[in-house]
Amino acid sequence: MIYPTIKSLYEAVMSCKACKLWQTRQNVVFGEGDLHADVMFIGEGPGAREDEQGRPFVGPAGQLLERMLGEIGLARSSVYIANVVKCRPPGNRDPQDDERAACIGYLRGQVAFIKPKIIVCLGRIAAGAILGRDVRMMKEHGSCVKVKGFYIMPTFHPAALLHNPDYAEYARQDFRVLGELLHETGIS
Ligand code: SF4
Repeated sequence: MIYPTIKSLYEAVMSCKACKLWQTRQNVVFGEGDLHADVMFIGEGPGAREDEQGRPFVGPAGQLLERMLGEIGLARSSVYIANVVKCRPPGNRDPQDDERAACIGYLRGQVAFIKPKIIVCLGRIAAGAILGRDVRMMKEHGSCVKVKGFYIMPTFHPAALLHNPDYAEYARQDFRVLGELLHETGIS
């Protein structure tokens, strides 16, 4: 489906019932940020706080993401943040294949409108959805590949960092690589 404007995409997402996740959501979480952002962050799906507020990455994982952005000189308001699925999977389970398939067109639409130069995939699910293959995060985190004109970097989901200090250090290294890429490409 082609959406002529981001407003029409937004309206389609907000009323969507294309997969079973609509039945248990409180709010659709479309995504937010700078529509002209050079960097887009993509997670797997809303958690409980995001479902309550209708905004992405607003819980503890979101606060950590904001801190890590700040460490490389990026304000949250200067990037765009979205998820692979726009409605919360119950109990924070992984989104299922049929749910991802039903929702991925919306994310593609967002990428097409925003046209970021760099896409950072937060976690295995997001990286798999963007790269179209299984991603082994321990091996591939922090690597940057150019696909169809976008730099794509997988890194750990901030929620995973809260529970594993080793991952947190790896992710900080990845963000430093992101900061260097931003500098080298003249984005910041
Ligand atoms: Fe629609 Fe995506 Fe929500 Fe499923 S997760 S109901 S496809 S917006």
